This record gives sequence, structure tokens and C-alpha cells, in this order.
Amino acid sequence: MLSVIEKSHLQEVIKLRKILHAHPELSGNEEQTSRRIKAFLTDNKPDSIIEGLGGYGLAAVYDSGQAGPSVLLRADLDALPIEEVNGFAHRSQHQGVSHKCGHDGHMAILAGMSSLLKKHRPSAGRVILLFQPEEETGQGAAKVIADPKFKKIKPDYAFALHNLPGYEKKAIIFKEGSFASASTGMIIRMQGRSSHAAHPEQGNSPVNMMTQTMGGLMSLPKNRSDFESFVLLTIIHARLGEVAFGTTPGKAVVMATLRTYLDDDMLVLKEKSERLVRKLEKELDIQCTINYVEEFPATINHSGVTEWVEEAIRKSKAKKLMINEAFRWSEDFGHFLSATPGALFGIGSGTDQPSLHNHDYDFPDEIIETGINMFYHITDQLVKYK
Ligand SMILES: [Zn+2]
Ligand SMILES: [Zn+2]
Repeated sequence: MLSVIEKSHLQEVIKLRKILHAHPELSGNEEQTSRRIKAFLTDNKPDSIIEGLGGYGLAAVYDSGQAGPSVLLRADLDALPIEEVNGFAHRSQHQGVSHKCGHDGHMAILAGMSSLLKKHRPSAGRVILLFQPEEETGQGAAKVIADPKFKKIKPDYAFALHNLPGYEKKAIIFKEGSFASASTGMIIRMQGRSSHAAHPEQGNSPVNMMTQTMGGLMSLPKNRSDFESFVLLTIIHARLGEVAFGTTPGKAVVMATLRTYLDDDMLVLKEKSERLVRKLEKELDIQCTINYVEEFPATINHSGVTEWVEEAIRKSKAKKLMINEAFRWSEDFGHFLSATPGALFGIGSGTDQPSLHNHDYDFPDEIIETGINMFYHITDQLVKYK
């Protein structure tokens, strides 16, 4: 297997991965993580470091000073509110918080790129290593892009990877077009009027509104002709009134997650959901509000970069696993790809691994080198290294 990173540097990167794993931080609170990454990057002499990007985000810029494309590689800084059950030495030291999505590994791979770039600097264009905050809540990418400092690193191309348990270690999972789904959390609050449970006729319970909303929402994806591709609606939470046997409820809430392979289908699914709620609201005389949270666009890989990704797979001597269907999960990297050509690809983290977000997940260090090789060989086709 071709290797572009020196063994001693790889060992340093693995050490960094374990330190990051031991000190996880939640979305929006990645202060220490950001500081540790900055120290590592500084040692690798980028031409500039931009801090405070959309929160605790930071970017290292390797600039040839010559004309050529700006290529952005992105990793994510945040961990999850999950208590780690692993007992190994680098287990989480922060109670109730742990790196269960392998973002510690993504950061290590980009840190490895900085070790490489210290020696092999681009001879044209720029390579930007972006460490993005708040991926898990779907906020970070949009915040980074909205940050006025982002203008300084506005890329011509953007690439990212995500580790994927359930696939052979080091295999590269790829697909042109829709790669990960759009998703949106929908919150419907219903306001009726409470009354004594002995006199429900004196109040206006939202019970029918709630049950008909849930039934109606769940049947929307069944109208296949309304949508171009896959759509899914999952009711994730519902609540009616309080546990009070003397009271007819006056309030209810229903929450659902909407998922689609395509952004256009998300617009249709949202519109159909809203129309259903507004119709029932009128019929049943219950006031409703609708809010959306944790909105992720679909991650659409550009067809123009497919060749580069495939060439990088060949040069990295990695196994190529092309998939036909997009993933149902979401990635806020889609925000970058909606404005910039690029791609997100998967890197297998083992068929016998726990799933992402499971309380015993740990990013396997063996796949770090493959990630570095992939990024190196993708960018090499665009900027050329000295
Ligand atoms: Zn995650
Ligand atoms: Zn993740």
C-alpha cells in the first residue's frame, strides 16, 4: 500500500486522536479541542491560521502564492452527549460526553494532512484544512459559511470524508449525486383549551388533532407520485396534556423527522405536512404552530469531481465500494456542496464495529493513513505538491 505520511508523523497523529477522544466536547463548546488542534497545526507551519470561524472553528491555509484553485478539506470538531462505556486508556474523561461519531478520527486525518503539507507544500493554488464546529446539530457548516472570515478561505473545491462502520476497514465508499439525505426536525405545537375531566365538553382537547396529525403525516410518504425519490417521515415524540386524571388536556405536541434523498423532495414533504396540519387546525378548531430544527440539506456529490476521487482511490490502493442508494443519515457538509463543487466519501471502519452514535464506538486508528492518502491524492490532482 502506497504511503505518503512518514511513520513517525503517523504515530503523532494517532497520539493526537487518542487525546482528542479522551477530551470530547459538545457541539458549540469545542474550545479545548480547537486549542489542541491549533497547537498541532502551528507546529506544521501553515501560511496562516484563521480562528473563531462560526464559533470554535479554525482553518490552516497552505498557500503557494501562485494562481490555482483553493481546495478545502473539512473535518468536524464535536462529540456527542453519550456516556462512553469503553474502559481503554483513552476513554472519555468528560462525563456524559464522548466521540461516538469518529470526529476525533476525522480531525486526526486532517492533522496528518498538515504534517504532510509542512514538507510538501502546494506549488499552485491553496489547500485549506477546515476544522468545523457543531456538525452534529447541523449548525456548524452554515455558521462557518456565514462568518465574514470565510471569505478569506472561500474554496473552489471542497472535500470531506466520514468513517462508516459496517464496511470493510479502509474501503472507500462512494457515489456520484445524492450521497447523504436531507433531514429536518419538525415540531408541531397544538393549543386547545383544558377543562375538568368530568366536563370535557367545556374544554377543547387536542387529542383528535394529535392522533389525526400523526396518522396523516405517516401516510404522506406513501403517495409515491408526489416525490421524485426516497422520502421518510418518522414520528419521534408526542405528548398530550399532563398526567392529571382530573383534567382534560389543553395542549399537545408532535415531533417528526423528515428525510429525503433530494432537497426538492424535502420542500414537497414539508409543504404537504404543513397543508395537512393547517387543514386539521381549521376542522378541529385547535391552534397550531410549526417549527423546524436541525435542518440538513442533502449532500450531493458533484459529477465533475468523480474522476479525481476515483483516481485517488486507485493511487491509495484502496478498495472501491460504489453504492447505488444514498445514505439515510445526514451530514451538514451538504451546505458546502450546495455552493462549491466537491464530494463527501465514506471510509470503512470495519464490519464488526458498533454503529455510529453507539456508546461503545471508537474510531479505528488503522484507517487514518488511508484517509490521509485519499485527501493527498485528491488535492494532488488540483494543486500539485513540491
Ligand atoms: Zn454523528
Ligand atoms: Zn459524524
